[in-house]
Amino acid sequence: MSDIFNNELFEAFASASDNVLIYVCDVAVDVSRWSKAAVEYFGLDSEYIERAGDVWAEHVHPDDLEMYLDDINSVFAGTKNRHDCQYRARNRMGEYVWVECKGSMIRDAGGNPIIFAGMLTRIDGESKYDTLTGLLTTYELHHINFEAQSGSAVLIGIDGFRRVISNYGYNTGDEILIEFSKKIKNLCHPEWKLFRFSGDEFLVVAFGAEQEEISDFYEKVRKQTDVIELEDGRKIGISASAGSVIFPQDANSRESLINNLEHSLEFAKNNQKGTLVSFSEEIAQKHERGLALREDLKQCIKNNFKGFELFFQPFVNRDTNKIVGCECLLRWKGEKIQDSYPMEFIKILEDYGGIREVGFWVMEQAIKQQVAWRDTYGDLWVSFNVSYQQFMDDNFEERLVACAEKYGVNPTYMIIELTESCEVDNPTELAAMFDRLRQRGFRLALDDFGTAYASLEMLKCLHVDYIKVEHSFVRELAEPGHDIDYVIIDNLLEMCKHLGYHSIVEGVENSDVADIVGGMDATLLQGYYYSRPVCLNEFEKLLNADRDK
Ligand code: C2E
Ligand code: CA
Repeated sequence: MSDIFNNELFEAFASASDNVLIYVCDVAVDVSRWSKAAVEYFGLDSEYIERAGDVWAEHVHPDDLEMYLDDINSVFAGTKNRHDCQYRARNRMGEYVWVECKGSMIRDAGGNPIIFAGMLTRIDGESKYDTLTGLLTTYELHHINFEAQSGSAVLIGIDGFRRVISNYGYNTGDEILIEFSKKIKNLCHPEWKLFRFSGDEFLVVAFGAEQEEISDFYEKVRKQTDVIELEDGRKIGISASAGSVIFPQDANSRESLINNLEHSLEFAKNNQKGTLVSFSEEIAQKHERGLALREDLKQCIKNNFKGFELFFQPFVNRDTNKIVGCECLLRWKGEKIQDSYPMEFIKILEDYGGIREVGFWVMEQAIKQQVAWRDTYGDLWVSFNVSYQQFMDDNFEERLVACAEKYGVNPTYMIIELTESCEVDNPTELAAMFDRLRQRGFRLALDDFGTAYASLEMLKCLHVDYIKVEHSFVRELAEPGHDIDYVIIDNLLEMCKHLGYHSIVEGVENSDVADIVGGMDATLLQGYYYSRPVCLNEFEKLLNADRDK
């Protein structure tokens, strides 16, 4: 039997709390040891269980199973190291109880999983306090009657906490949460209540407080938490956004209070990061529009992608001034909503996961189009956008390769642009996929270079073929006072050359900018000066005109 089980530490932890049940799994042989209390409480057959994953899945409530499996499978697949979710599990008496299940995977130097260990905390109303921060759990919200009292509630969320964890690790993440919660607590009035709302979100119920007092409170929170000092002396910069609601005016029930708080915080995070946003009719309407868009998008996807269309924006060769390819950009007109811009509907597709199917549709159209143009115009470089979330889809690589084979495209002419590189929390895995795709001949591009979060960091770990210089640096290049933009772009392009990358400069809006950029070392140019993104018919007119030049 594995050494990890014959450990007095296991016994010590197992008996440390009645409410916390622990388990440890020797991954190589897939045998787990569960604490006696867990065996008893959940009616397991023995302390030692083979293939405990399958056994435990049978205890998880059918409605929670998919969420649970998603989380645990990504730990075992290596996408992340920590398992953390709440679900209902069946106990010995056949009742389902809420548990918080947290586990951690330990890997060897080669990254192979060796030990998976963790704990189950019963949270079915028995735990009044959050185990990490000692704050109240949301269960305690049930005891507040929001109809009968007045005041304000504030939901504070740390911005980009996922990124913080991927930079500093889970333990540091926990330390940050503890320090952050202490600071908020110190700023709260003694009669207010502070809850750990979810992972990185904290809820303050400020009885009797009006808007002004809440704004002052948030200002203090913001100033005092912008740098979190950890016990070992490390200082970590963070920012926090917040949403606030006045009760009973904006919400007279617990449900509406929580909903309106979440919508306000979401609005702050999407539009005004690092600020406090008070709930308003506008926010409620934005949320309603979001829901309507989501329904419309789902309906269109179901209707064989009705209303979706690709537009094409030319890539122009700097030296010949000829169109040598294009970027495919998604457009959509819904059944009910006809005026949604890509930034809006793509965000919604990404939020609810619809981008997966639509992304495969985009991929197929782009590949098909490259092949369709070949006979008439020769091989054009055709790019399409893929977000990190799409790259991380288990089927992405397989479907891309299958699609390329189906249409017989030469992958050399397909450029895959990684958008939103700020979301990348596992660059190693992504880098391995990039390498495999490049070996198959596909071209990879880093989009929005220069503005995207940690562009240089991405460049260090991902091998790509193209860097796309973001249009915000380029657009106003010819205007007075933009010397710095010139220096930035010039040096970026120089760097690309040294690193052996090609470059695509976006945002060439007029002939002055085209002249300036033309004198730099860019491979391809893109922008309204050459053409806005246009439908297939219009794009082919451009190609024909270009050929006849
Ligand atoms: P992006 O990939 O950075 O796309 C370039 C955006 O810049 C396009 O906006 C394009 O219309 C705009 N643009 C092009 N030339 C100029 C110019 O000279 N000046 C200015 N001011 N803007 C210019 P669009 O089409 O609205 O797309 C917005 C974003 O939506 C894209 O940004 C991309 O991140 C995303 N997107 C578009 N299609 C897809 C898709 O199929 N999949 C995914 N995941 N994202 C997509
Ligand atoms: Ca792009």
